Amino acid sequence: MKTEPSFRESVDIMFNRAVALMDLSPGLEQKIRVCNSTYTVRFGVRLRGKIETFTGYRSVHSEHMEPVKGGIRFAMGVNQDEVEALAALMTYKCALVQTPFGGSKGGLRIDPREWNVHEMELITRRFAYELIKRDLINPSQNVPAPDMGTGEREMAWITDQYRRMNTTDINAAACVTGKPINGGGIQGRVEATGRGVQYALREFFRYEEDKAKANMSGTLDGKKVIVQGLGNVGYHAAKFLSEEDGCKIVAVIERDGAVLNPDGLAIEFLKEHIALTGGVKGFSGGTYVENGAAVLEEECDILIPAAMEGVINLSNAKNIKAKMIIEAANGPVTAGADEILNKMGVVIIPDMYANAGGVTVSYFEWVKNLGHIRFGRISRRQEEARHQLLLDELERLSNDPAITWELSENFKRQYLRGAGELELVRSGLDDTMRESYQSMREVWHTNDKVHDLRIAAYLVSINRVAASYRSKGL
Ligand code: NAD
Repeated sequence: MKTEPSFRESVDIMFNRAVALMDLSPGLEQKIRVCNSTYTVRFGVRLRGKIETFTGYRSVHSEHMEPVKGGIRFAMGVNQDEVEALAALMTYKCALVQTPFGGSKGGLRIDPREWNVHEMELITRRFAYELIKRDLINPSQNVPAPDMGTGEREMAWITDQYRRMNTTDINAAACVTGKPINGGGIQGRVEATGRGVQYALREFFRYEEDKAKANMSGTLDGKKVIVQGLGNVGYHAAKFLSEEDGCKIVAVIERDGAVLNPDGLAIEFLKEHIALTGGVKGFSGGTYVENGAAVLEEECDILIPAAMEGVINLSNAKNIKAKMIIEAANGPVTAGADEILNKMGVVIIPDMYANAGGVTVSYFEWVKNLGHIRFGRISRRQEEARHQLLLDELERLSNDPAITWELSENFKRQYLRGAGELELVRSGLDDTMRESYQSMREVWHTNDKVHDLRIAAYLVSINRVAASYRSKGL
């Protein structure tokens, strides 16, 4: 019987499948594959009258570009293997979507639900202190972001901790991304990863041949979608796909089970229900089942695993009925499951592309912090003035009695409005998701040894990392 490799081994297996099709020197191949360093820290915090010891990690996979970038995860499952796998994925992800970073990842073994806000702040600040004093958090060397179990709040604490330890660093705000908007963040960062999943699907649905490979046709409208994990990524993906593209979210799987509704779940109400009760059980807008994992095997067009790694594995891959899987989470499909699903003809949009919306908008935030100016601040009114000039001239011309057309009020309103930060961020994200998809699909359709998008994605990104090392004379 086949055994399941670890998460890091899974990433290595997929990497090896790709490099087998490339012409890299063995030395360079090894240099790209290995994780440069992993720092493990055990620190104590006095809580509830006694000292509690926590274990945290920050792994740097590749420094071919600096700073290195990758989220910080707070979860009980955090371990060195997982952090190294996620750091490697960050290297390939950044190369694929052309954000100028190396790959890194961090994690703290903790269940955030066990501690109150004040305790979480003490723990987060102490972990940040340990990383900052070793330059493992630093605007020019290593820039974390949110991941599972962390969000704007933790990023704000970490930034403040960095400022306290680097009082004269004018670029202090750029030491992490995913900050709250009033603490140096950027519009559109919270929604970015889910928004990126939506843009990725929209781009996939623009190509008839690609849809045909997944036995699908038409648009996203009416497509049946199952989402696992209604956290930051899953919630935004489900919300945008149902509210803006007409998808039917027929099931949502959470920690305590799943809710199903063949007519589509109302995502906003479900999210409110989870916030109030802590789970999906008892939601009146759908049917509850206790065995959530089994719902991954239900009939649907698109399956969106957006919770954690390894959920589609050797034990359930052959039962998957989805026509395509878009990996919103990192590593949800193991290497063994990937092989089975590819043979079954299930199209998989790989994690390193599918969830790259987060790092893309993080890149915009980092640039904004270094530039010390909001996007659009200088050009917005000037853009509006030029549009006004054109409208005035068109209206002057339309006074000619021979001209029968006139500009609608709706057009004028939309055309006159200069883009603000959120529109610019979304437009930059859309462009990134489209271009990156095109670079993958070109390899998918032109290299006859490449049969799936994951290998195509690895080929594109490994080639870019290799080019970067070569340019340094390696
Ligand atoms: P999150 O903590 O906000 O949400 C995770 C959700 O999954 C929660 O609702 C949780 O209850 C649920 N969940 C946990 N275990 C589950 C299980 N066994 N079955 C069903 N549901 C379960 O985390 P997130 O930031 O949304 O991250 C989710 C995934 O997306 C992770 O793999 C993460 O690495 C990846 N990711 C996140 C970002 C980001 O910007 N936040 C960016 C790229 C990738």
